Parts: sequence; C-alpha cells; structure tokens
Amino acid sequence: DTRAEVCDLTVGIYRDESGAIPMMEAVRKADMELAQTRPDKGYVGPLGDQEYVQAIKNLALPGGFHGHTVEGAHTPGGSSALRLALDVIKMARPDARVWVSDPGYTNHAPTAIAAGLELCYYPFFDARSGASRKKEFIALLSTLGENDVIVFHGCCHNPTGLKITNDEWQQIAMLAKLQKFFPLLDTAYQGLGEGVVADAYGANCLLQKVDELALTYSCSKNFGLYSDRVGAVLFAGRDGGAVKKAQAQIAPAARPTYWVPPNNGAQIVKKILGSDELKALWENELTAMRNRINSIRAALLESLKQVSGSDCYDFLAQQSGMFSMFPATEAQMTQLREDYAIYGLPDGRLNVSGMKMSK
Ligand code: PLP
Repeated sequence: DTRAEVCDLTVGIYRDESGAIPMMEAVRKADMELAQTRPDKGYVGPLGDQEYVQAIKNLALPGGFHGHTVEGAHTPGGSSALRLALDVIKMARPDARVWVSDPGYTNHAPTAIAAGLELCYYPFFDARSGASRKKEFIALLSTLGENDVIVFHGCCHNPTGLKITNDEWQQIAMLAKLQKFFPLLDTAYQGLGEGVVADAYGANCLLQKVDELALTYSCSKNFGLYSDRVGAVLFAGRDGGAVKKAQAQIAPAARPTYWVPPNNGAQIVKKILGSDELKALWENELTAMRNRINSIRAALLESLKQVSGSDCYDFLAQQSGMFSMFPATEAQMTQLREDYAIYGLPDGRLNVSGMKMSK
C-alpha cells in the first residue's frame, strides 16, 4: 500500500509516534555490556538460566509468594511457556478441560489442542455490540471444578483490551478457592496496562487464595525483545514437592521441540532487573510507552464521541493495554482498509500503539 496515510494496526508490536518499533535504551545498554563481557555463548540447560527465572518470578509476583513454592523454566517466548505449561498439565491431569477466552489470543486454542487437551471457550466480550460478557464469565467460573484449567490473561486482554477490575479479580480468586479450578495466568503485557505492580494484581490475588497455579510470561512486548524469544513458565504451589515434580516434567516436554532456550534475551532481562540503574531506566521507558497508549486511547474516545455525537464508544474507557476491539464487521474492516488505508484485523482488533497523535 503506497498511500502516504497508511496505518498498520495489525501486528501486536508496540510502535512509537514515528511508526518505528523502538529499541529500549535499557535493552541496548545491557546488550552492549553483555557483548563485551560474556565469556561464551554455550548452551544453557533445558530449564534455562535459573537466576533469570528467579528474576521473572519476582517481577511477575511482586506481592510475594504467600507460602507457595514457585519454580519454573526459562523459555523461548511466552508461546513456548504456554505449550510447556499445558504439556505438564496434560501429564498430571490427562482429562482436564482447558478454557480459553472468547474472543481470545489466536495461539491459545491451537496450543491447547496440540497439547491434547479438551478445549472450551468462556465468554468475555460481545464482538457484535462491544459489550462486556464478564458477568457471564464469572457466573460460569462458579460452575467449574478441579478438572478445569482456566487460561486468564494476566493483564491487558488480547484482543479486546477489556480490563478485569480489582474487585472482579477478588471475586475470581474466591471462586478459584471454592471451586478448585486451576488458574493458568498468561502474562504477556506486564507494565503496559496500569503499571508493573498494578498489572500483577490478578496474579497476586489468585496466589493468595489458591493452592496451585501456573503462570506463563513473555518479555516480548514489555522489553521489546520480540525476536530474541524470551519468556518463562512458572508453577506455584503450597505443596513444594508437587511443584518440583511439575518442574521436572519441563525438560522432557522441551526436549522434542526446542530442547534448550535461546539465552541472549534472557541475559539482557536478567541484567536489567539486577541493576538499579538499568531497572529504573527500563521502568521509565515502559511508563512512557504505557502513557502514550493511554493518551491515544483517550484521544480516540474523545474524537469518536465528538464525531458520532453518541456515547456508543464508551466501552473504550474500560480497556487497557496495546489492543482495542471494535464491534466491527469484516466488511467494515475491509472498508477501513480500502477507503482509509487503516489496517486492522478482520475481527475488529486494532493495535492502539500503531495510531498517531499527530496527523
Ligand atoms: N500471550 C498473549 C496473550 C500474547 O498476546 C502473546 C503475544 O502476542 C503471547 C502470549 C506470546 O508472546 P511471545 O511472542 O513471547 O511468544
């Protein structure tokens, strides 16, 4: 598309005001230091660098571990972490049902199917009207039990952006305790919603209440390390022996696929999180990214209000993170592309960070 005004809002990558994918300064500094000081690029074991895993554990669960043992592995991105978590769950509970969000992240359903687990969908958002279906979701949770694994988006729901409020997380955590379903928190956008600690509210809330859970982590977006493939899988449990057992199943699950994870990105993240100076720089850069996304979404809501003279876009105020989903038909998305050079996904998902405040 050669039109000057072309706007690519498709892929889930953070873009700055110029449309570029920025390299974070903290990442560049850590990478350069590592290039000069790393003694070698030998393999890490199948569980990866455990010091990096500890750093992710502290980042993803900033409220502490509430009596849980938490162990895991360093993985190639959040996608492999998801697959490993589901593979281990399949070994432990072969008849488990996995519930993923409707609408949801494109890779959740195929990953659950590939792991050989029964797939079910929970309602979350009405893509025709833009209305939340969280009430139905929470009502469904109250009917589930020990055989059910619920894949939650830890924060910044993909594709809808619809927030789970702190009160709702409290309700969900109470239900998890009562019904004993197994929470799997997929955390791929920590810091891009409301803040690094605020975005971990759901994970912290669940950890306080349940006996066991799994958490998968991606550093692709919040560190801008997309192609370095950096993630982690964590198992948390009050029974430390069971957690060690789960961790011991990770290497056999990784062996027939990638065997050992790539290490450069994990070393970058470990270096940043282990240095007060680099961590502060990273948090500042992340805050600037988050503020930019939030101001674009607020400006978009304001403009749509003015242009339409209606409050039908108010659902935008309940969203956070990189994505917004509009109740648009495929034909309307095609029209946006053909008539206005605005590219979104056919289901109405737009990458808010790809929009520009300037004309
Ligand atoms: N989970 C969600 C909800 C995502 O949106 C993504 C990436 O878009 C991932 C996991 C996987 O991320 P990665 O690129 O680290 O594999």
